[in-house]
Amino acid sequence: MALRFKKGLPLLTVPKIRLLVSGHQHEHSVFLSFSPKAKAEKSHRGGLPSAFIRYSSSTPKGMEVKCQCGTISFSTSNPSPLSVYHCHCIECQKQSSSAFGTSAIFPADGIFPLHPELKAKLRIWTRPSNEGRAMDCYFCGKCGVRVMHRIRDADGRERDTVSIKGGLVEGLNWKGAKHIYTRSAVVPIPHGVERCDGAPEEMEGRKEGKRKTDNT
Ligand SMILES: [Zn+2]
Ligand SMILES: [Zn+2]
Repeated sequence: MALRFKKGLPLLTVPKIRLLVSGHQHEHSVFLSFSPKAKAEKSHRGGLPSAFIRYSSSTPKGMEVKCQCGTISFSTSNPSPLSVYHCHCIECQKQSSSAFGTSAIFPADGIFPLHPELKAKLRIWTRPSNEGRAMDCYFCGKCGVRVMHRIRDADGRERDTVSIKGGLVEGLNWKGAKHIYTRSAVVPIPHGVERCDGAPEEMEGRKEGKRKTDNT
């Protein structure tokens, strides 16, 4: 057990414990700390300050995701993405306000349901997608950077995967990324890379087969 200080407040750190989250085992750091409010309560009431428990959602083996301003910070459950796509569709050009968008596909498990602290910092914009689906797009409420999106199928079920913007994933291996929707590409596609005109034959998290008109 270690005692350390953060912003002038004592922060008591206990050894990592193991928690079962969504059926998967992750290691979490558990912090016991005392808020200024709790201090005030102590002085007024003379009792022991109420402690609150804050645990980091970081998993040691996952990848760190950080927005441009640093407000959004969390870890993936997987040590690497299932796939990385450079998407040249019109929507990704608009979304990225650039030539194409890069999506790193991770299992949603371990990120969703969102931790309340993280959820409070994110904003959501939902846009309709093909065939009655909806895309929940998450962005930083402070710097506005798109962080990730997740698709809900027509029946309301969320996909098993989440698409995180590649530039936010620290240490991402960009080699082997597939170029998709190249039919609307506005920049040359490098030679020798895996590519397809539209949606890839198989996309992680999709519950059915190929959909020719599907956008990421
Ligand atoms: Zn931000
Ligand atoms: Zn796209």
